[in-house]
Amino acid sequence: MGKFFGMKIEKKSSLYDGKSKTLFETNHSDLVIQYFKDDATAFNALKKGQIRNKGFLNNSFSTHLFLYLKKLQIESHFVEKLSEREMLVQKLKIIPVEVVVRNRAAGSLCKRLGIEKGKVLRPPLVEYFLKDDSLGDPLVGETHIQQFGWATLDEVFQMKQTALQVNQILSSLFEKIGLSLVDFKLEFGKNSKNQVLLADEITLDGCRLWDHTPGESMDKDRFRLDLGKVDEAYEEVFNRLNQYFMEQK
Ligand code: ADP
Ligand code: UDP
Repeated sequence: MGKFFGMKIEKKSSLYDGKSKTLFETNHSDLVIQYFKDDATAFNALKKGQIRNKGFLNNSFSTHLFLYLKKLQIESHFVEKLSEREMLVQKLKIIPVEVVVRNRAAGSLCKRLGIEKGKVLRPPLVEYFLKDDSLGDPLVGETHIQQFGWATLDEVFQMKQTALQVNQILSSLFEKIGLSLVDFKLEFGKNSKNQVLLADEITLDGCRLWDHTPGESMDKDRFRLDLGKVDEAYEEVFNRLNQYFMEQK
């Protein structure tokens, strides 16, 4: 296992078994381990399957992106990649709001409001969804978030600003590897010092990426919509990103 300021980190019991990751306690009360699985779900877990090597690919992909964001002053829960499928992160109290940034219309936005798929959204649209599977993650507004105490207005402002910065950074990064960032979901949480940090993962499970040339989906929509070549798309995008970072070294 890894080390944290000289302390040897040991994996303890499972804290939470999610749809695509399992969280483990460690011998440090402020740190947990995220274990990335190959399991994939869609439509509020009505569709279930596996994507070959997804755990490894998502852990590596997220590690690249959290490190890249850190260089550009965006702090996250990321501490260290421990192994192929394990990431050491700060233990956070997750804010139960998913922050979605959209550069083009797709997915639930098209269904909900009849917006044409692919319509460019300038400025980017920021939406919030309550993180509650039993309610189907409903769309909520800033006033709901404040009213029901899911986050303060100041925290909402911080999440929104960070999400828009992440959007600028990742949009130009993905452009360099021939992909358009259509939309993505972020989660945030508070650490023991009450700092709001970017949490969870940034992977193809929670992004839409369209290839420049054929305009094809290179993300979890291949799984959601049975488009085929799901494993290949995850691998291809990871390889392009990996190659890009290797060339920068
Ligand atoms: P789900 O909960 O939707 O099944 P996952 O399988 O990805 O999703 O499970 C990971 C869970 O861990 C998510 O609920 C996420 O909010 C939570 N989480 C992510 N980062 C942290 C963190 N740093 N501390 C505590 N919980 C976290
Ligand atoms: N998303 C996610 N988890 C969710 C819901 C959405 O990661 O529970 C991501 C999804 O991959 C997409 C973006 O957020 O990149 C916007 O998703 P949308 O609201 O269109 O929902 P969808 O129809 O894709 O479920």
